[in-house]
Amino acid sequence: MTSSFKTAALLSLLLACPLAAQAGAARDDGATHYRPTGKGHAELDNDAGASARKAAAKVVKTPSNGILYHGGPVMNNVNGTNVYYIWYGNWTGSTTPAILTDLASNLTGSPWWNINTSYADGAGKKVVNRVNWLGSTTDSYSLGAALSDANVKTVVTSAITSGRLPSDANGIYVVLSSADVNETSGLCTQYCGWHSAATLGAVVIKYAFVGNPDRCPTACGTQTSGPNSNTGADAMASIVAHELAETVSDPQLNAWYDSRGYENADKCAWTYGATYTAANGAVANLKLGARDFLLQQNWVNAAGGACAKAY
Ligand SMILES: [Zn+2]
Repeated sequence: MTSSFKTAALLSLLLACPLAAQAGAARDDGATHYRPTGKGHAELDNDAGASARKAAAKVVKTPSNGILYHGGPVMNNVNGTNVYYIWYGNWTGSTTPAILTDLASNLTGSPWWNINTSYADGAGKKVVNRVNWLGSTTDSYSLGAALSDANVKTVVTSAITSGRLPSDANGIYVVLSSADVNETSGLCTQYCGWHSAATLGAVVIKYAFVGNPDRCPTACGTQTSGPNSNTGADAMASIVAHELAETVSDPQLNAWYDSRGYENADKCAWTYGATYTAANGAVANLKLGARDFLLQQNWVNAAGGACAKAY
């Protein structure tokens, strides 16, 4: 589910993602289908479920809005989606937790999150414009400063089994790492964040990893100084938003994605729409609560489909 890629060909596919998305976003010709890995790049859809998913893709949403439904669940609880953060590493003295907590706390009702309401399950039940910030926990290097994908999963499941966070099928658990922490499957070289799901007991736990762009401002950053005067956090904000949007529309990597395996936020990565200058001189494109942010656009699954920062 979270396959990692090491080849130059797939790396170039990842790097080409934003431009390719703009050029071919509205064209799902159905000829070749890929499935998402949660890391913003695709692998050939050749597993045992491929035939069923292709059949599903052919019968739903014709003509499409540039993204296809593959039959799986979306996170469309009428009470909204719950978000938890796990602060991994050393966050002492950092303004990042306050900035990203404000982000998650102010998505409800926003024009940006409303884009996700253009996604529904097979019964037509839509994602709602509500995100419930339900808290966080810390993890001070329980698995060291070089995490594998499996380690990230363990960080999440440990937070739950230890009782530091509840087990919540309607939750998204986001692991946020400090700048000294690496994710060895390709942070900064193949992705800036990713999302996945795992079964814990009887509950399907949805979770995401968001690395710290201070490790690699060229690859994962947005601007030298962001609207909240914290380069890493301001870049992380867009990546957190990206992963949350993908998780509600494709929580188990079998719901909404296009023929190349691009999920909604992949199709609009690193594009921002109209921007303005924040009070501190940085570039921003929207306000949530009291803060300005520069969040990437997301794919609107309506009216033919398009990247937008509001819906
Ligand atoms: Zn993505």
